[in-house]
Amino acid sequence: MPSATKKGEPLERTRYAPKAHATLTDVEDGGGPASKKRRLGNGASFASQALQSQPSFTDVLERLKKEEETNATEAEGGADNWARPELSKIDPKRDTIIFQQIDVEEGVDGKGQFGIRMYGVTQASFQDEDIKPFIENLNVVGMNWIEVPAGQYRLIQGQSKRSNCQIELHMRYDAFISHPPEGAWQKIAPLRILSFDIECAGRKGIFPEAEKDPVIQIASMVTRNGEDKPFIRNIFTLNTCSHIVGSQVLSFKEEGTMLERWRDFIEEVDPDVVIGYNISNFDFPYLMDRAKALKANRFPYLGRLRNVKTEVKNTHFSSRAYGQRDSKETPLDGRLQMDLLQFMQREHKLRSYTLNSVCAQFLGEQKEDVHHSVITELQNGTPESRRRLAVYCLKDAYLPQRLMDKLMCFVNYTEMARVTGVPFNYLLSRGQSIKVLSQLFRKANSEGYVIPALKGEGSDEAYEGATVIEPSRGYYDRPIATLDFSSLYPSIMMAHNLCYTTLLDKATIDRLGLEKDVDYIQTPNNDFFAKSSRRKGLLPTILEDLISARKRAKADLKNEKDPFKKAVLDGRQLALKISANSVYGFTGATVGKLPCLAISSSVTAYGRQMIEKTKQEVEAEYCMANGHEFDAQVIYGDTDSVMVRFGPMDLAKVMALGSEAAELVTAKFIKPIKLEFEKVYWPYLLISKKRYAGLYWTKLEKWDKMDSKGIETVRRDNCRLVSTVIETSLHKLLIDRDTKAAESYVKQVISDLLQNKIDMSQLVITKALAKTDYTGKQAHVELAERMKQRDAGSAPALGDRVAYVIIKGIKGAAAYEKSEDPLYVLENNIPIDTKYYLENQLSKPLMRIFEPILGEKASSLLSGDHTRSIQIATPTVGGLMKFAVKTVTCLGCKTTLRANNSIPNGAVCNNCRPRISELYQKQIMNTSDLQVRFARLWTQCQRCQGSLHQDVLCTSKDCPIFYMRKKAQKDVEDANTVLERFDEEIW
Ligand code: SF4
Repeated sequence: MPSATKKGEPLERTRYAPKAHATLTDVEDGGGPASKKRRLGNGASFASQALQSQPSFTDVLERLKKEEETNATEAEGGADNWARPELSKIDPKRDTIIFQQIDVEEGVDGKGQFGIRMYGVTQASFQDEDIKPFIENLNVVGMNWIEVPAGQYRLIQGQSKRSNCQIELHMRYDAFISHPPEGAWQKIAPLRILSFDIECAGRKGIFPEAEKDPVIQIASMVTRNGEDKPFIRNIFTLNTCSHIVGSQVLSFKEEGTMLERWRDFIEEVDPDVVIGYNISNFDFPYLMDRAKALKANRFPYLGRLRNVKTEVKNTHFSSRAYGQRDSKETPLDGRLQMDLLQFMQREHKLRSYTLNSVCAQFLGEQKEDVHHSVITELQNGTPESRRRLAVYCLKDAYLPQRLMDKLMCFVNYTEMARVTGVPFNYLLSRGQSIKVLSQLFRKANSEGYVIPALKGEGSDEAYEGATVIEPSRGYYDRPIATLDFSSLYPSIMMAHNLCYTTLLDKATIDRLGLEKDVDYIQTPNNDFFAKSSRRKGLLPTILEDLISARKRAKADLKNEKDPFKKAVLDGRQLALKISANSVYGFTGATVGKLPCLAISSSVTAYGRQMIEKTKQEVEAEYCMANGHEFDAQVIYGDTDSVMVRFGPMDLAKVMALGSEAAELVTAKFIKPIKLEFEKVYWPYLLISKKRYAGLYWTKLEKWDKMDSKGIETVRRDNCRLVSTVIETSLHKLLIDRDTKAAESYVKQVISDLLQNKIDMSQLVITKALAKTDYTGKQAHVELAERMKQRDAGSAPALGDRVAYVIIKGIKGAAAYEKSEDPLYVLENNIPIDTKYYLENQLSKPLMRIFEPILGEKASSLLSGDHTRSIQIATPTVGGLMKFAVKTVTCLGCKTTLRANNSIPNGAVCNNCRPRISELYQKQIMNTSDLQVRFARLWTQCQRCQGSLHQDVLCTSKDCPIFYMRKKAQKDVEDANTVLERFDEEIW
């Protein structure tokens, strides 16, 4: 007789039981019956593939150590390597000091003298200097190189030093050379970058509070800019922690001592840049508050200035581009900061900004997510469980560095600081306008202008935006050429000399007797501007500088071979492009520092005129009346581009026509306005304004990519199923060009959905519980409240992401009443409202892409035979279930088992009993398959979390594997229950 297989990992994390997985893992290793292939769904299989190749983080640490051994570094995690190398003696009369300045601040020194303090890093020996005071920062731009000639400075030493820098010196403001970041001065010094993460032990159901909950671990990774591996890796732990290969472990009995020792570590390592994930709003404020609560008074001195206390400030940030945001800031004198979460929120539009999901997206790796209540359990366990926590924490310190390298954020921001002149630390904490303003001030200064200090009051004045040529919706199987105005708005401003300094009013024109089109122009918006022959504007000059610098950077990029230098150049050309494009927005920002709607509305008015003119010119020239094979048609135009259907099927011909048309139209406009032919879409699906998809061709041999705009692939309030279905359908339609296959794929998915065969991870919707006082009722808020009533300990707290699915409810119930915790749904077999998913999530996006192709027939995708078969799970909880009598059926013929046709609690009816061995075999096979599947997912998670010998604790709501694992576990448990029925049988 079989004995029931042990149940696997418990469904709730509060019932965490070590070693419970052993039996199931054995199934995989022990070569149980081969598993049948089961469909995981699209997203799932991608995720699994990615995960299987992912090494555990303990492997990563070991590899880092091994690679170091060749460099003869002895100590674990770079323990003997904290401080910067000793300096050789400096002779101010003989030695010139050259350094990359990273931070400049104004201030008054100890004697009440005004000055400017500058921090930097030399290339040769990674030393820092502190120079003060300057009265004016002459031509100093963010992150550029400074040369202090020998004999021009005085070294400050011993007790007189005011900082912890290796070199501190004093000089006159005009005695240094500031090198523009060009040519050899484009390099970036080997700055020391510290990435860190902290763990706190929270109480059940309460997000950690610094007043009460201890900091239990701090992980740090230090990397030199330009290198890809951290040369210092360590973890500070409260209480003991087992050895970790590849990382130094420093254990402390007292939390206060641990914090102060970590501060000493910062002073010794002396990082130039401090990074992490959510460090601005969580780690730094928490550390500061905790140190205060513990009276660890030596702690809050993390900057480079001696005796200057580090303090947290509340900041409010408001910008048209990024919206309103309250956040915290912890300035560290002389050190740069980069919070990768803020960077992500600013630069990328994503479904979710958890570290887990950002890493999955950009690094192709999942990261386990341990709930804060589980962290406390691990901390209160053994040195081994604390080691586990430490590895988790170390990984969280390592990932921001990897993200930074991968996304080139540091290089790109450095270049942005150099291009715009603003200090690096402003780039994340301030809006766009400061960058334009900084350039404007510099230019105005050198040209002898003064800029009025206006109060950004804001006004409701609105002006007409860009033009959109009404799209001729449809599916185009002929090549569609796209003609783009390169840098449209900057080139309009340059071509027409639009600037604050050239704006004229009627009275001035009359007074000076100016002549139209000779001395000034009138814009389509009826504003007047002096022509450049009379007075060249500041903004056009700034734009010219930016654009010619970009041209140079792009040319250098082409010739550069070194990957690091290439990255710098690419960052530079990108920064230059963004800067040029933001000048127009600056003039139109009514709440900004220097709004001038005469400029911004003239720019858009010219833009609209140009798009219209382009359409007319192209359609007038390329027509059959002029001897062309077809009449060209502009099928769509938006802001700075038009899409032209020239007619021929031949790609080469269309490309040639595109280039020719671009040249023809360019000739009709004032320089430097330029229309360019860049790409062809073929085929092209034009859905509506700002929504389209197509295959993107720039060369004849092969298409470059599938491009889509405004189509549901990243919208965060959609479940994964929507993006999976839309992406796969587009692939079939545009790449395979197989409409039939796309249709049958969609029908199959809908049929699977209605029959409950879609993996639940595809149906989960997540939303952050951002505040307590939402106005309307919302699905995630209502659910959080219900979960709190069920179990306050595991319910989502403020700031957590709430994951939910929509379940079947009473007729007419609103979606917010039908949201439910996916785990609760799994455990209790609660039926999903599949119709909701079809009607509210899938139908609109599907119709959008299929209607242009199938016309009216598209609606048949949503109804028809494939929607007839519906299967609903039988819940085990809920109102009526209290009264329901559970019927048990025969495993052979499905007859209801009763006292007169079977034995109590048995598996089969009396008729099927002769087949009992066969049915038992079948059930064993089925259970085995499910066990193998569960074991696979379990092992995947173990790999992800870094150990094949420990239980999986991760509850990452952003990871599809999480729900698959939970579902697989439930399936195994159910199958075991069925198997147990054979125990009661007569054999
Ligand atoms: S569910 Fe598993 S695979 Fe996903 S993040 Fe957590 S541990 Fe990693």
